[in-house]
Amino acid sequence: MNISQALIYGRNTLIKSESPEIDAQVLLCHILSCQTTFLHSWAEKQLNQQQQDTFKQLIKQRQRGQPIAHITGQQGFWTLDLNVTADTLIPRPDTELLVELALSKLTDKMIVADLGTGSGAIALALAHEQPTAQILAMDQSSSALIVAKKNAVQNQLNNVSFWQGKWLDAITEHALDLVVSNPPYIEEDDPHLLQGDVRFEPLAALTSGDDGLDDIRIIVRQAQHCLKSSGWFLVEHGYDQAQQVLALFRNAGFTNISTHQDFGGNDRVVMGQKTNER
Ligand code: GLN
Repeated sequence: MNISQALIYGRNTLIKSESPEIDAQVLLCHILSCQTTFLHSWAEKQLNQQQQDTFKQLIKQRQRGQPIAHITGQQGFWTLDLNVTADTLIPRPDTELLVELALSKLTDKMIVADLGTGSGAIALALAHEQPTAQILAMDQSSSALIVAKKNAVQNQLNNVSFWQGKWLDAITEHALDLVVSNPPYIEEDDPHLLQGDVRFEPLAALTSGDDGLDDIRIIVRQAQHCLKSSGWFLVEHGYDQAQQVLALFRNAGFTNISTHQDFGGNDRVVMGQKTNER
């Protein structure tokens, strides 16, 4: 079997996947440790027996629905390569919006908390872009923090510290310049939870009560308490939750509140500034 034949085999076997062509390419690149362009330039190159066997095995895992990021153990986010396991959410491209907006507020030497850091995606992207900032990567899950720490080491980021705990419970008043979070926000009985990659991701990182807003309600209040005056809070939310999240920001006393759309045009992030003391 050569590269071209392997890709055809993969594509045909994964016909029920959302992206059979790309899935087959990513899995073959993973086995050959190469870029996609290599597959095109060397379409006639023969795979050895071991490469063929491994490829068929990975295609089978994908056919059973396993996320590509779990099969390869990797996911790109921002400019970073991250390790991903079943203990963390798989970082989504949409979450790069949160990073972009946070960077517009992040300056030298700020103290920043990323709540529910998971694989560390947001914390590490911010740490990478602003090396003088001190980033606290926080999560309730110790197994997620193991993954996040490994990602910090792999990406040589030294300005991140890791804290286990629930949201901002352990943080004192007026301690932070910036708070960011991609918390769980899916409704508990959302039928999408039975489809695609989310089936393999930790439920605790996905769902949050009947309306999906239980955790955002807590975090908005805690962020208002823990931010320094004029500090910013940014949170990712579900595509249909912008109005409710805006109201939570208003009720908590935030000002300069705005809502932002992701690459698919869906409302995805609300941000607001802590008022000066009243
Ligand atoms: N955006 C993800 C999804 O809809 C969920 C991430 C989250 O709950 N924070 O699959």
